[in-house]
Amino acid sequence: MPCMCGDIYCPSCGPAQGNYRCPACGSWTADGGCEDPTTCDAIVKKMDEDEERWYLVDEIYQRIAKEQNVSLIDVKVPEGEYKKWRDMPIEELRKLKDNSEYIGSLA
Ligand SMILES: [Zn+2]
Ligand SMILES: [Zn+2]
Repeated sequence: MPCMCGDIYCPSCGPAQGNYRCPACGSWTADGGCEDPTTCDAIVKKMDEDEERWYLVDEIYQRIAKEQNVSLIDVKVPEGEYKKWRDMPIEELRKLKDNSEYIGSLA
């Protein structure tokens, strides 16, 4: 159920009334928005990227699970690979996810 309190600073009703809270600095549109939008944009982009990274790593795990014919919790990934995925640029991780040869080499 969406909140119906009508408070424009409510995390649930605010955005419906055009008042957004910046996830980086926490300022609201109604208060003039971010003090430093460039920095906030970069932080928000990073947060989106981190979220996508989790999704991509999950996809890779699922593909390896399929190759190894095991359930997701039994997937074995070579030592150090996970760290590589966590640290590599998101563009490379995107490509890696669709790289069957690479997935096959891990399985
Ligand atoms: Zn509300
Ligand atoms: Zn901000």
